[in-house]
Amino acid sequence: MTNERPINFGAGPSALPETVLEEACKGLINFQGTGIGVAEISHRSKEFTSLVASLESNIRTQLDVPPTHKIIFTQGGGTGQFSAVVLNMLARHRLLHPDLSDEQRVMDYVITGSWSKKAETEAKRLGGASVHIVVDASTKSKDSKSFDAIPAHEDFDFSADPALIYYCENETVDGVQFSNDEQSSASFPFHLLPAGGLWPLVADYSSSFMSRKIPRIADHAVIFAGAQKNIGPAGLTILIVRQDCIVDVDAAAKLGAIPVPITMSYKINADAGSLYNTPSTLSIYIAGLVLERSKQLGGVVYFESLNGRKAQKVYAALREGETKGAYRSKVKEGSGSWMNVVFDVLGDNAESRFLAGAEALGMMALKGHRSVGGIRISLYNAITEEQTDRIVAYLKDFATQNA
Ligand code: PMP
Repeated sequence: MTNERPINFGAGPSALPETVLEEACKGLINFQGTGIGVAEISHRSKEFTSLVASLESNIRTQLDVPPTHKIIFTQGGGTGQFSAVVLNMLARHRLLHPDLSDEQRVMDYVITGSWSKKAETEAKRLGGASVHIVVDASTKSKDSKSFDAIPAHEDFDFSADPALIYYCENETVDGVQFSNDEQSSASFPFHLLPAGGLWPLVADYSSSFMSRKIPRIADHAVIFAGAQKNIGPAGLTILIVRQDCIVDVDAAAKLGAIPVPITMSYKINADAGSLYNTPSTLSIYIAGLVLERSKQLGGVVYFESLNGRKAQKVYAALREGETKGAYRSKVKEGSGSWMNVVFDVLGDNAESRFLAGAEALGMMALKGHRSVGGIRISLYNAITEEQTDRIVAYLKDFATQNA
């Protein structure tokens, strides 16, 4: 099986480690010697609940999640959280400031790509507060509409006491890396956040969750991510929520906040240990296997250095191809994402030749997102350094032949 599989550079759902898939095949038939497959067993069985506990502990340990924060598993994907964070954070703000009008209550959105833009659109749709744009990177880009870089810190304008401050780390569609790592040039301006202790800082980590450490994790109110990029099949959504943001949404609704659907309430899910209703059992199982393997390899620290090397190799080949006139990066240097490298192949029909050539060599799913086109190489955790070397060699060969 191993040698025959193509390399899947897809952006999500994306590649999973083969050893995990092989083990999961066995678990589908006979889960931990129960004789029942993992997709058939009760989510309340002791075997399954211990799986949930070990997934949680793997996330907590590998990411150093502080005791101030709870880990919650839910469904609905990143998109579900575009709504849920608004509703839960508005409920929290209502309990803190019951007398503010909807106009006075503000939600801050940092827009650095199409995912944060979608989240902001949902916030506006839900209402309950006014939406303030902290910065919109598209207005600063070369064509005033695409997202090609993270704006300079002086362009950020935060509100005084917002109900939430939203950003998306690593905007996959456009391949823009918005990091909260202060070492990075495209970093989050923590020093500009409003004064006061507990920031209502919400981060969409869908595309880089478990690919490296989360800097300043304790300063976040909510971090969320779908599993389908780095750690498992679609269907599982992971939340890291500071405890002061796990509030009684019904008490807030009595004060006029928007009622929160029961499956979206952080408190209901947290109080039930993420088992209020039936969870995505198969995704939890496979994510558990992936993170167990990650632990054996050295945890996110291992993946951080592996992913750094992978990205560095691909960007170097891309730059080399740019100087030959074969490629054009979609994002400015310094703003490129580690996880998703996006670029155009220049020349008549060159993109389809690039894709066909890659496919002939067993490299699949390189076509860019439908809204931005071009090529997208996703380098999630399951992509090995050897597989990265194969695409790097192809990038170089293609550039030479098309120079
Ligand atoms: N946020 C980001 C950064 C994403 O990459 C995606 C999906 N690729 C989403 C949100 C939406 O996630 P979902 O499809 O799980 O709703």
